[in-house]
Amino acid sequence: MTKTEINWWNVNVGDEAAAKIAAAIANGHISQGPITAEFETALAKFLGVPYTVCTTSGTMALSLSLLALGVGPGDEVIMPDRTWVASANAALLLGAKVRLVDVLDDGLPIMDPAKITAAITPATKVIMPVHLNGRGVEMAQVLTIANQHGLEVVEDACPSLGSKQNGKPLGTFGRFGCFSLGMAKVLGTGQGGVVACHNEADFQLLSRIRNQGLSGTSMNERHDVRGSNFKFTDIQASLGLAQLPNIKKRFIQQKKIHAIYSNYLKNLSSIQFLPVDTAGGEIPLRAEGYCKDRDRFVAEMEQRGVSVAPQSLNLSSYPFIGADKNNYPCAQRYSQTMLTLPSGPDQPLQNVEKTVEIIHSIDHLF
Ligand SMILES: *Cc1c(COP(=O)(O)O)cnc(C)c1O
Repeated sequence: MTKTEINWWNVNVGDEAAAKIAAAIANGHISQGPITAEFETALAKFLGVPYTVCTTSGTMALSLSLLALGVGPGDEVIMPDRTWVASANAALLLGAKVRLVDVLDDGLPIMDPAKITAAITPATKVIMPVHLNGRGVEMAQVLTIANQHGLEVVEDACPSLGSKQNGKPLGTFGRFGCFSLGMAKVLGTGQGGVVACHNEADFQLLSRIRNQGLSGTSMNERHDVRGSNFKFTDIQASLGLAQLPNIKKRFIQQKKIHAIYSNYLKNLSSIQFLPVDTAGGEIPLRAEGYCKDRDRFVAEMEQRGVSVAPQSLNLSSYPFIGADKNNYPCAQRYSQTMLTLPSGPDQPLQNVEKTVEIIHSIDHLF
């Protein structure tokens, strides 16, 4: 096998970020402190919300939001069959049950709001639409259904920071909106996550749960809500603060990458490229497609030095979810077929051009 020349994801931290981290450490700001607060304010401004709360991961941002809503054993959380397993794990950790909804009929692996009502039971507490890799679930419909049934909405916008729907950022429609600051996301602080919220009471509640339920800062204060240690660190916040001012440049790169793939990957038999509505304000995070013979596609690409990343199965494929995959026929098309092509904000365009060339050269094999 050839040595990999093009990776599906690249990370390039840069000197400015390294200097900011070094300065934080030199000043003794290593745990959660003033730099985290500064980063939270900057993120809130970026998202156009009054408050954000940083935590250890996107998954924990989801669990923290569900905890704040009192979700626990006996409760159900509705989410799409096609998502990263983290969405489900966030609910399962609290002892809640996951209820699945199929994706759209029309060729995108995104939750279909028209199929939510059928999944509501007396135990339903939260609807969790998942905005997958920059593509948004139609939020007007989700909010209408939630209002009709008295349910809360927690958006899993983990891989969609910066994407908008009708001019409004995804993750700012529901009671809580969660984003990941993990490695293969637009803004990565090593690990990390953030919750966007809309009022001071919710901000205080999330902040308390994040810090063992403590109200205030003194150890003599009361712990009358259940919490744990879900704190962020100033080291991570320094990295985030170095990246945030450049985020628009990162979006431009992601859109350029997406444009190359969508212009040149048409009418192929090896792979069907999946569109993102960039004109409508969505920011493509990963370049994605689905293949009729994914194993063979991956092998042929790897032989030519290009690493592509097969994506995970649908939630209904996992026994611990307790769902029958035959009930989600639209999502089935994407289980075992989807993959990520070389992309991400630190991916050089020539890697993308080379990948397109190689795909064209192997297409006749399929
Ligand atoms: C990345 C991701 C998460 C989890 O984020 P982490 O920071 O890795 O915990 C959750 N849901 C979706 C859809 C994601 O893509």
